[in-house]
Amino acid sequence: MVETATLGKGVQGVIMRAFRSRDYTITVTGARDIGPYYRRLSFAAPELLAAHPPYPSMWIRLWCPGPDRLYQRAFTLVDPDAAAGTFDIEFAMHSTGYAMDLARTAQPGDVVQVSVLTRDDYIRPDPMPPGFVMVADPASLPAVNSIVPTLPDDLQIQLWLGSQHPGDEELPLASHPGLRASWVPHEELTMRLSAEMSGVHGWFGWVCVDTAQTRAIKELLRTATGAGEREGHAMGYWTIGRTTG
Ligand SMILES: Cc1cc2nc3c(=O)[nH]c(=O)nc-3n(C[C@H](O)[C@H](O)[C@H](O)COP(=O)(O)OP(=O)(O)OC[C@H]3O[C@@H](n4cnc5c(N)ncnc54)[C@H](O)[C@@H]3O)c2cc1C
Repeated sequence: MVETATLGKGVQGVIMRAFRSRDYTITVTGARDIGPYYRRLSFAAPELLAAHPPYPSMWIRLWCPGPDRLYQRAFTLVDPDAAAGTFDIEFAMHSTGYAMDLARTAQPGDVVQVSVLTRDDYIRPDPMPPGFVMVADPASLPAVNSIVPTLPDDLQIQLWLGSQHPGDEELPLASHPGLRASWVPHEELTMRLSAEMSGVHGWFGWVCVDTAQTRAIKELLRTATGAGEREGHAMGYWTIGRTTG
């Protein structure tokens, strides 16, 4: 991986500091492919995990080296172990991007700068609804896999996953007695939900895919679940045809 110590964070770093982010360095301890388009890095991060107890779908910002400066990219903690001070990160591999370069080239011993803001993500609903309807893709699969095991066994889960590459359908999926998962072509997610989603009134809606489909699916979920404006969780994870900047 490119040496990061001398690269600055540019205006993104100034904004993060204004929002009182906390900065850490974490150390790569391993790297392996878990699918043709999916790569998992392991990290030692004792200081970060001691300061920020992990919660389902917790994410951090990795500062990824570019030619001129560091670029922040959001990634979800996988299997965080606060006692051991370790976690993994899974990268849905696409063609280009500074995060992809980092994932491809990282070696044990490399250090990565990261920033953490306060908790601003999925909040477990209370009381629990009868079901969850979740819409995800390989980038948000780590978040799904961290939430699903925390849900009660008698809860029903309809999970729609958008596949982008051969092999996506074999990616590890958390098990749960009420889980029904369907993979569909990524670009068809909105259309397929619109045509096929049923029986989810009163359920919690969760969608994190590309920004355009997230916006459209959020509205579909609100109608189908009967949720109010502030209920459920919807967050665009990436934008088709545009770098995060
Ligand atoms: C809260 C949060 C948590 C996230 N957690 C994860 C995670 O755990 N694992 C993970 O893999 N991603 C995760 N993401 C998504 C990740 O931050 C983006 O995919 C990011 O754009 C990757 O940066 P990059 O430098 O590779 O590509 P960028 O420079 O941002 O984009 C370069 C090109 O790649 C395309 N692109 C970017 N992301 C994708 C994608 N996922 N699929 C197809 N094309 C893409 C863009 O459209 C652009 O054309 C998360 C996003 C958020 C907001």
